[in-house]
Amino acid sequence: MLDVTTLTQALITRPSVTPADAGAMDTVETILTDLGFTCTRLAFGEIENLYARRGTASPNLCFAGHTDVVPVGVRTLWKYDPFGAEIHDGQVIGRGAVDMKGAIAAWIAAVSRFPDQAGSLSFLITGDEEGVATDGTVRVVDWLKQTGEVIDHCIVGEPSSSTQLGDMIKVGRRGSINATFTVTGKQGHVAYPQRALNPLPVLVDLLAELKARTLDDGYASFPPSNLEITTIDTGNTATNVIPQAARARVNIRFNPTHTGVALSQWFDTVARDMAERSGAAIEVQSSISGEAFLTEAGPFVDLIADVIQTQFGLDTDRSTTGGTSDARFIRNLCPVVEFGLVGQTMHQINECVAVADLDALTDAYSALIEAYFSKFGSAS
Ligand SMILES: [Zn+2]
Repeated sequence: MLDVTTLTQALITRPSVTPADAGAMDTVETILTDLGFTCTRLAFGEIENLYARRGTASPNLCFAGHTDVVPVGVRTLWKYDPFGAEIHDGQVIGRGAVDMKGAIAAWIAAVSRFPDQAGSLSFLITGDEEGVATDGTVRVVDWLKQTGEVIDHCIVGEPSSSTQLGDMIKVGRRGSINATFTVTGKQGHVAYPQRALNPLPVLVDLLAELKARTLDDGYASFPPSNLEITTIDTGNTATNVIPQAARARVNIRFNPTHTGVALSQWFDTVARDMAERSGAAIEVQSSISGEAFLTEAGPFVDLIADVIQTQFGLDTDRSTTGGTSDARFIRNLCPVVEFGLVGQTMHQINECVAVADLDALTDAYSALIEAYFSKFGSAS
């Protein structure tokens, strides 16, 4: 049986600030190999990834996580070495303690309590979650599909808990799309508007039309989708000039009522109609940061909630709040739920995790593995 705190410290002392790996993935691979896992290293671009599996039978319960961490920020503000993994007042201090080397260590320590399982256990570990995330989980998911590797359920070890361990799990996330609208008219003298085409009223009308639409009234546990205008610019310094062009940006956080592609098409349609009506040229550039997803209520989510109830005596909040995570890529494969440490200090100066929380999360993960295979496991 492995000690979760020692393992967390071993990972924190590898300064794996994205895209650097600094030996973090080797550390994980060596331990998993010792525990009987078959490890496949997947390097894409400058990023290290790892898929590891123990067992060949189904179901395959996967743990997904990232070994990369965000930069330390202002080093002199840290009370202790951000890569020293020192323990003070019952806390392991260092970058990645809660986000999310501690959770990786907890799942590995939990796995080490079982010599085998009635199915398979696997790990999908990436070194590119905190960065642009183009050579990480998204590529590994493609690889899994190509090789016909099946994952039945997935736990993502992101720090989902809010103020105490287990009080919140994430069962979905909103999607996000950004768009820039550039309206080009004709520059001219304000006293001779008939010789010009002012792009600003066109842009204002366009934004009003976008804003007037009620996107939806909410979806399951999600709030209504929302469009925000984030900037309107023309850069005009003169008082007597009608500007040539004007630009605005909007962002929509959307629930599973919508897809990014459909919203992007809506932007194009509104812009085309407005261009026809106004005579101005309108260019739209959309970029989808992530699609919305929801792991529907069902036996997998219930199982996790039941384990949390037993371990912590808490009725966990099945939340869809927060930013994006790699769960958005994994949801294409199977039901996925985020369940990890308390996120209070993530990305902050003096990031830390209580040793007691590491032990408690290891116990909870261990109970979860046991409950999972007794509920979904093969008869063997
Ligand atoms: Zn994270």
